[in-house]
Amino acid sequence: MSFSDQPVAMSAPAARRSRQARVVWGDRVVTVGGDAPVRVQSMTNTDTVDAVGTAIQVKELARAGSEMVRITVNTPEAAAAVPYIREQLDRMGENVPLVGDFHYNGHRLLTEFPDCAKALSKYRINPGNVGKGDKRDRQFGQMIEAAIQYDKAVRIGVNWGSLDQELLATLMDENSRRAQPWDIKQVMYEALITSAVDSAKRAEEMGLNGDQIILSCKVSGVQDLIAVYRALSKRCDYALHLGLTEAGMGTKGIVGSTAALSVLLQEGIGDTIRVSLTPQPGEARTQEVVVASEILQSLGLRMFVPSVTACPGCGRTTSTTFQELAKQIDDFLRLQMPVWRGRYPGVEKMKVAVMGCIVNGPGESKHADIGISLPGTGEAPAAPVFIDGEKAMTLRGEGIAQEFQQVVEGYIAKRFGGGAQAA
Ligand code: SF4
Repeated sequence: MSFSDQPVAMSAPAARRSRQARVVWGDRVVTVGGDAPVRVQSMTNTDTVDAVGTAIQVKELARAGSEMVRITVNTPEAAAAVPYIREQLDRMGENVPLVGDFHYNGHRLLTEFPDCAKALSKYRINPGNVGKGDKRDRQFGQMIEAAIQYDKAVRIGVNWGSLDQELLATLMDENSRRAQPWDIKQVMYEALITSAVDSAKRAEEMGLNGDQIILSCKVSGVQDLIAVYRALSKRCDYALHLGLTEAGMGTKGIVGSTAALSVLLQEGIGDTIRVSLTPQPGEARTQEVVVASEILQSLGLRMFVPSVTACPGCGRTTSTTFQELAKQIDDFLRLQMPVWRGRYPGVEKMKVAVMGCIVNGPGESKHADIGISLPGTGEAPAAPVFIDGEKAMTLRGEGIAQEFQQVVEGYIAKRFGGGAQAA
């Protein structure tokens, strides 16, 4: 046996370096950056003019764990609907801050619809879409003035797909005069970062506080996003919003977002995140919140829901019983969390194991707070349950899933609720 005299170094995300920003609605203050937790954001895909439909989706996203929700504000009708959306949410007891997403006409909408400007907690401004030529500075200035007047946060959100073309042309010209011109992509990176940082500085010169500013530079390629944010985080200390824009659908969008965001978050870069998934037909919009939360939880940055460890299954278990049980328990835990969050503090740190056979089942179940090892093919039809590392009981028969769910509920009530009974 060889035993190294050096222990394996522990791995943990690096400390973040940004200054803190605040996004406020009423008594609700969401801090972003500094030592605040990395925040989860999302965006609705309803027509904002449909105030009731939008309020319902905002509530669903908030209940799924989104700490700010962005809505499109693209027309006078949409701007007029914003105060009603806010009112509906307040009436439902949902104080999640709303972020208005503006392009092209934000200067007019924020000026002509003061109730909209007041009902929002943050304005997303895209410097590439605020106007051209001499209008650009004036229209950008009008939006910053609204943020100052109503004491709102601003995200200066640059996007690869709507980059300031005049700035890009200037940088391309400068690049062509270099003795050794940069790669075109590097000029694009520079344009994204310059657009964001210069716009933020201009906003500060106008009187907006640095703690009201959050920056983003979104691109759709994983390596591009990593390169841009590494450089951006060295060039400023504003709080940063991360997201792989237009990540795509299904596993492609999930894997791409996870790959890009994980690398950056591990390096201490990023203060809020959004996973921009294209919903599959019939898929809930809340899926993007679930994925964003899972990324943070997997990295150990935050805990949102109890985690379910389940084996992949193999030839040793040919029934689907353990797959169904793992899904049932996972769904059950997620569904209960909005209630449990207040009733059972700390429950989100719990680990549950659902395993398919004797090979790793008992071992993994003992590592979890509560675990069940289902019988594999050829094993006796019995499922030992382990609680806090000890075998507590054996379940048998058709009702194993239901019984195990009750055992989990009882455990949670006893451990996290001071003995109170589960609902
Ligand atoms: S625990 Fe058993 S069923 Fe699950 S993957 Fe391992 S060997 Fe296969």
